[in-house]
Amino acid sequence: MEQMTNIKPLTPDSIDEAVQYWRDGHLVAFGTETVYGLGADACQPLAVSKIFATKNRPQFNPLISHVADPETAFALGNVTPLAQTLADTFWPGAMTLVLNQCEDRTIADLVTAGLDSVALRVPEHTGARQLLAAAAVPIAAPSANPSGRLSPTTADHVAMAFADQDEPKLILDMEASAKGLESTVIDARGDIPVLLRPGSITAEMIAELTGHAPKAPENRILSPGQLASHYAPNARIRCHADAPQTGEAWLGFGNDPDLSEALEACNLSPQADLNEAAANLFSMLRVLDQSGAASIAVAAIPHHGLGVAINDRLSRAAAPRPSS
Ligand code: AMP
Ligand code: MG
Repeated sequence: MEQMTNIKPLTPDSIDEAVQYWRDGHLVAFGTETVYGLGADACQPLAVSKIFATKNRPQFNPLISHVADPETAFALGNVTPLAQTLADTFWPGAMTLVLNQCEDRTIADLVTAGLDSVALRVPEHTGARQLLAAAAVPIAAPSANPSGRLSPTTADHVAMAFADQDEPKLILDMEASAKGLESTVIDARGDIPVLLRPGSITAEMIAELTGHAPKAPENRILSPGQLASHYAPNARIRCHADAPQTGEAWLGFGNDPDLSEALEACNLSPQADLNEAAANLFSMLRVLDQSGAASIAVAAIPHHGLGVAINDRLSRAAAPRPSS
């Protein structure tokens, strides 16, 4: 079969091409010292929605944003003494820090899954950092594999995995990933490191450096993928609604019903486009939640493509929460 995928070695020209694709809202796959990433401009929600569509991810879990240097990272997330200590030793490298987002949130809500925190990494791979410096925007990138499949460590893995997809537009061949293991994710918002995901930087290395054995996350995973730390609105969510009841907020999709009874209304995508709906989901939930409505009625969302992840997020928000 004809190979349609655009694989190029990393050169000044291919870097320019990648940056242009990112600017235009497309995906570019690139190598790091861990695994290949499927990258989008983290500040463009519609571009980020293509990551979930291309990976066929059934859930909106938060993504790591990649930047060229620690200064850029700390312009996006508030540095803490612990984060500074970790960064001084392990950045650039296979470590991701979760920090509170800085005041002017430039990263799309879809990247952080609506959370106030942000996950940041400065990779060690020299080519990856050249690429990120040229991009001059944070690049959101999970591993470049279809959901549920093995993480890719070569450009060919990536090409094969997405052979029948529109994206990524370009795969940068940066040679086999040296570690082949995903980055260690550390919540560094407090005084004691919290190990969110083990990786090549081990708990022992973290303990030796910081003097604190890393803690396990408090919110244990309740069921696969069900992180209790996921963003949940204060308002009740009423799914598959035909129209808002008096005083409810309304989150539409496609043509809206009569909205005269609605307290506040948004539409995920008047054209009924699931990518656009995914891109708007978290920001619109936030706006409607801030209207003070006790309930948000949500139109039915088709259950295919990105609709699966949208419905997953909405049905969790609709489920009764344990009191804490
Ligand atoms: P992946 O992008 O698939 O390599 O996975 C990203 C990892 O970082 C997952 O384990 C996420 O749960 C974690 N992560 C990303 N952003 C955040 C965040 N804002 N808060 C907590 N964990 C995060
Ligand atoms: Mg992965």
